[in-house]
Amino acid sequence: MLHPQLPHTLGHVTLVGAGPGDPELLTLKAVRAIQGADVIFVDDLVNPLILQHATPHARVVHVGKRGGCQSTPQAFIEKSMVQSAREGLRVVRLKGGDPFMFGRGGEEIDTLREQGITCDVVSGITAGVAAMSALSTPLTHRGLAQGVLFITGHSQPGSDGPDWASLGHMAHTQRITLVVYMAMTQLEQITQQLLNSMPADTAVAIVQHATLPEQRHAACSLSQVAHLAAAEGLGSPAVWVIGDVTRGLQALNPALAQAA
Ligand code: SAH
Repeated sequence: MLHPQLPHTLGHVTLVGAGPGDPELLTLKAVRAIQGADVIFVDDLVNPLILQHATPHARVVHVGKRGGCQSTPQAFIEKSMVQSAREGLRVVRLKGGDPFMFGRGGEEIDTLREQGITCDVVSGITAGVAAMSALSTPLTHRGLAQGVLFITGHSQPGSDGPDWASLGHMAHTQRITLVVYMAMTQLEQITQQLLNSMPADTAVAIVQHATLPEQRHAACSLSQVAHLAAAEGLGSPAVWVIGDVTRGLQALNPALAQAA
């Protein structure tokens, strides 16, 4: 259904970053796009509280796709967006964090352009940045880290994924912080490869449910991380931060220490 009052652009989609979880980390531009939407396609890491900004007439379509679970095929999501835009609806695609940080936003924008649908993108705060800010810990720091590399731990089916030993060498020798997304099922394998080029006592942290009330983190050495994460039951969604900037963090946050 078209919104009765507001003008709309035929065939337009806005990709909106919903931020890492805390609804207060939404941008004003994101709020405005959600308020103006006729239909909203929502990923499952998006905090449902954010949908309070939608008007009652907006149709909300949940198209979650968590690793290993029943998911909406990507092609179906893209087709549905194109179809809704062609019907003249104002379409918002609400994606966790930043729409272009992993999570297939690039593929969606390619399809929309190919189909002649105009689109724009509202950036959001990505989980890797928010997770460390939530711990009052910088990702870069004079003397500790002169840069950051965001990378996925989940390689495409049939692909070998990155060369972790080379990345570890670069991170260690060049003082680059590594921020690994979607790594929790691969911690052990990735760690083994990183240990070929990084010292065993390299400082690391894992932050789960960053910026949400249930946020938990653990900090330890690279050689201990897989064991500690398993022992503490730390799982997805979490980011894994590798480098000296995490060295000052408390080993376990109070919530984890109590549960341990
Ligand atoms: N576009 C998103 C990332 C999508 S990939 C962004 O910019 O943040 C999904 C991965 O993001 C998860 O597997 C996890 O590694 C990370 N992630 C998302 N939300 C998170 C959160 N609240 N806390 C920790 N990691 C999170």
